[in-house]
Amino acid sequence: MKFAIISKGDATSDKIKRQITHYLTEFDLVYDEKKPDIVISIGGDGTLLYAFHQYVDRLAETAFVGVHTGHLGFYADWTPDEVEKLVIHLAKTPFQVVQYPVLEVIVRFNDGGREKRYLALNECTIKATEGSLVVDVFIKGDKFETFRGDGLCISTPTGSTAYNKALNGAILHPSLSAIQIAEMASINNRVFRTIGSPLVLPEHHTCVIKPVNDVDYNITIDHLFLVHKDVKSIQYRVAEERVRFARLRPFPFWVRVRQSFIGD
Ligand code: NAD
Repeated sequence: MKFAIISKGDATSDKIKRQITHYLTEFDLVYDEKKPDIVISIGGDGTLLYAFHQYVDRLAETAFVGVHTGHLGFYADWTPDEVEKLVIHLAKTPFQVVQYPVLEVIVRFNDGGREKRYLALNECTIKATEGSLVVDVFIKGDKFETFRGDGLCISTPTGSTAYNKALNGAILHPSLSAIQIAEMASINNRVFRTIGSPLVLPEHHTCVIKPVNDVDYNITIDHLFLVHKDVKSIQYRVAEERVRFARLRPFPFWVRVRQSFIGD
């Protein structure tokens, strides 16, 4: 089996990277940054998001596992103390894998049918570069509303505990193949009206956003910040691809939610 390690780059994470590389090569696993079967991220959730985007073109062949060197993460759930246990589990291949939905984002531009496709593990947010975001929101081809406000956040089930949660979105179990649309400070009065509640769309239901008064947007895909000019539309749906996590021990989602947000 081939493995790669992505470290956050601080002294502690780099030290653990050296340790794991040493142990795994002792077990005859091969370090291969180009075509790994497993990617171990060491740092925090941000490091795992970075790792996901590094290997986004190999999601069918690559599984991820995260070690946290700061606080307990959602994706980075192994502690530095558990490194030896983690190595032994990995050496006992084949390991179990769980697959979770990711978000497909297609940005289409006004010039000659150009488009860009992204996959997000957590979410995509959209804001206007200046002033309020004013966009028409279509769901499954029908106009749903005209949104005015700070922005919109479209998240995956595993991303529902991230930015989406701060917007009072629901926490979705990642076995649900769905995406969630949450508003950021919508303007609601006698003239402007939006639904106000977060919406959860099942697989195959597409959400399309079309500009009303502006065509330049600040878009985030997880930790990545992008500016897109001359946008015609942005389309969201559950992607055909899935993200694969190595399941080396039971760590139920709701236990993770409780430990992260409520404590023991
Ligand atoms: P960061 O350093 O600002 O960290 C953001 C925090 O989000 C970290 O504590 C991280 O552990 C946590 N986080 C990331 N993914 C999570 C998940 N799926 N469930 C629960 N917590 C999660 O930024 P970063 O490390 O580069 O991460 C980028 C992420 O930050 C974005 O994908 C977005 O979800 C999140 N974010 C949140 C807010 C907010 O809550 N108001 C604002 C901006 C970005």
